[in-house]
Amino acid sequence: MRHVLAGLTFAVTALSAGFYSPSTRADEPVINLYSARHYPTDEALYSDFTKATGIKINRVDSDDAGIIARLKAEGSASPADVILLVDASRLWRGEADGMFLPIKSAALEAIVPAQLRAKPTDDGATAWFGLSTRARVIVYDKQKIKREDVDTYEELGDPKNKGQLCIRSGSHPYNLSLFGAIVEHLGPAATETWLKGMVDNMARAPKGGDTDQIKAVASGECGIAVTNTYYLARLMRSTNAADKTVVDRIAVVFPNQQSWGTHVNIAGGAVARYSKNQANAVRFLEYLAGPDAQNHFANGNNEWPVNKLVKLDNPALKAMTGGTFKSELLPISAVGMNQIKVQQMLDRVGFK
Ligand code: FE
Repeated sequence: MRHVLAGLTFAVTALSAGFYSPSTRADEPVINLYSARHYPTDEALYSDFTKATGIKINRVDSDDAGIIARLKAEGSASPADVILLVDASRLWRGEADGMFLPIKSAALEAIVPAQLRAKPTDDGATAWFGLSTRARVIVYDKQKIKREDVDTYEELGDPKNKGQLCIRSGSHPYNLSLFGAIVEHLGPAATETWLKGMVDNMARAPKGGDTDQIKAVASGECGIAVTNTYYLARLMRSTNAADKTVVDRIAVVFPNQQSWGTHVNIAGGAVARYSKNQANAVRFLEYLAGPDAQNHFANGNNEWPVNKLVKLDNPALKAMTGGTFKSELLPISAVGMNQIKVQQMLDRVGFK
């Protein structure tokens, strides 16, 4: 026990080392940002905020799980002010574990639709806000697969698609959120049957990220894959010849347009529970919901803005949807809540 504790202390110290920027003076306005946004184009987003406000950003990058683990390890000593995560199930987890400080912001409440933020607390504060959305869509081999066989999520588990499916790990937050949404639509029993159907339809055991699944369709290893839209948009906008070949071979479908609509996930943000720069933290979140940052999400990282006043001007997203699509209207907090139930189903049906 002693040994374990000593090891933990060391790990926390090592994580914190190098975090405080030596150039930050004590009186300089600052926020410490823990970000799971893994998009190189976001650099401009942060520097524009500092230019406009004089507030310096110290950034720590990790994936969602790494950030949650770090916040837990740091506890009340955490220097974090703002936390950005890229998935609804993780945001829900962070809220459930008490990592966030619920806030009141008239600006954020006006911009972010109610179903894309946390349920209000008893005193009307909000623990996290969605800042951009991404759809989870199906891509398929134009030569091998008929569109009408893949235009619903349900068909991913239909025996007619045996041996065709490529999908990343079921436990990845993007899939936990999609499957959590399906539980809301179909109920738990039918969802588990569907998950088993997908396992039976797999062309290979889950591996890699969404882009790897798209490429596996283009190479002929599988006929059908599941991806977030921004990965596909990135390939569509790429000038690389190999990426163009990939895009030429595949087609995309926004599933369930005739029923509940395509599953949409969010990237979002929260103020950290022990933030010492709360006013600056709220100001940063409000900046992320404002027109400049929202334009950046739309054009820099191919996400849909939550701010309805921002006009979408992204050629890849337009080409994909033909302009618009029907998205599901579940409260995204309900989707996050189902993740434990879904993980148990995945274990039972052997979905790795
Ligand atoms: Fe991603």
